[in-house]
Amino acid sequence: MTREYFTCREMVELVTDYLEGAMPPHERAIFEAHLAVCPGCTAYLEQMRQTIRMAGKLTEEALSPQARDDLMDVFRNWKKAQSNA
Ligand SMILES: [Zn+2]
Repeated sequence: MTREYFTCREMVELVTDYLEGAMPPHERAIFEAHLAVCPGCTAYLEQMRQTIRMAGKLTEEALSPQARDDLMDVFRNWKKAQSNA
């Protein structure tokens, strides 16, 4: 199966693989291409990196439904800001 893009939802699912270096190189390239054009996912990745820095590892809390809701808020606010621009 060859994928050429990930949706934002897939990005959220895959972020742990990315940060753990568990992602195959071709998927990593797709992931990074999405990051280059998606401020919402970039913000989420940064948030996850900070969580890992503080906790020393990925935590259950970082992957909770609440964390994913927070991400969707980031997207909503971003889209709102775009439409106001
Ligand atoms: Zn995205």
